[in-house]
Amino acid sequence: AKAWHLVSRPQGLPTMDNFALRDLPDQPLEANQLRVRNRWLSVDPYMRGRMNDAKSYAASFQLGEPMTGGAIGEVVESRMDGFAPGDLILHMGGWRDGGVIGLDLMPNKLPRQLLDAGMPPQTFLHNMGLTGGTAWIGLLRVAAAKPGETVFVSAAAGAVGSAVVQIAKAREMTVIGSAGGAEKCAWVADIGADAAVDYKAGPVLPQLAAALEGLGKPGIDVYFDNVGGEHLDAAFAVANDFARFAICGMIDVYNDGHPQEMKYLIRTIPARIRMEGFIYTDQFFDCMEEFYADMGALIASGAVTIRETVHDGIDAAPEAFLGLFAGENIGKMLVRI
Ligand code: NDP
Repeated sequence: AKAWHLVSRPQGLPTMDNFALRDLPDQPLEANQLRVRNRWLSVDPYMRGRMNDAKSYAASFQLGEPMTGGAIGEVVESRMDGFAPGDLILHMGGWRDGGVIGLDLMPNKLPRQLLDAGMPPQTFLHNMGLTGGTAWIGLLRVAAAKPGETVFVSAAAGAVGSAVVQIAKAREMTVIGSAGGAEKCAWVADIGADAAVDYKAGPVLPQLAAALEGLGKPGIDVYFDNVGGEHLDAAFAVANDFARFAICGMIDVYNDGHPQEMKYLIRTIPARIRMEGFIYTDQFFDCMEEFYADMGALIASGAVTIRETVHDGIDAAPEAFLGLFAGENIGKMLVRI
């Protein structure tokens, strides 16, 4: 088996030189281990943070070591109770085409064997997993968004953002989504957003204000932030009193960390805005059953559609990852092995 190793720490946007695809040593299978053949790998923006040598919520990747991440694998050999060859499992031994998976790569609260939900297995890497769970928790729990409210979500054509748009529409909210480019904005409208803002076509704030006016809405009740920077500042500018901001991600600053002038931050006071950063794993396990039931029903009814951008082969993993920062994905970015 082969795995992508981090061989140097990126400064700014990562390059191919930061990664090397190397053979993993052959290992006999020990007790409580599985040998798997990976089928699907997830690449996610949070992995950029793990490439830094800095303390964060997910441990740093070590230089010269294989990287890890969400993956769906097929068991080919098992020395773990309850697992047999042929089983499909969700685990954290991503960035590789297979190999030995022990309990360290199987967080014990996650359902390891995929639920029989009548969906393609890779759905558990997005709508029925990390990105759908993040959208659901951020919108409904952190922001406590209610039917009738107006929601603004950035990176709305991405995995988390597109789930936010669709969950919000299913709950009868008014939704404005922003994305880069006409094709993405058209899709954001297709999946139900009441208006789409193309942040690459011009500044966010005037477009957001025009969208609100067009919808006859005075402002936003909820901002679901995936981007930070200019988007966040625009959201401050148009927030209604007692608006809630679920701060999920700030991809605009992951690679350069430049400070962004927040001209409208001061509106947090008169508008009594509540902002809350959140991490999916803090809350997911407490509401997992409810999430699976609700998201499963939304997918089954067609209220949430599944869209993926797929790269093929283990060789393509870094390219797929880097594509997240260039906006090359619509829906969830995945690598199929
Ligand atoms: P996406 O599928 O949304 O992919 C990233 C998208 O971000 C790109 O497609 C691109 O779309 C957009 N983007 C990239 N750079 C910029 C930029 N400079 N300005 C504006 N948009 C940009 O990824 P995910 O759905 O996996 O993640 C979305 C966000 O959620 C990320 O910030 C991520 O870190 C965060 N997250 C947080 C979690 C948590 O627990 N807090 C868990 C999971 C994700 P476009 O073409 O529109 O620019």
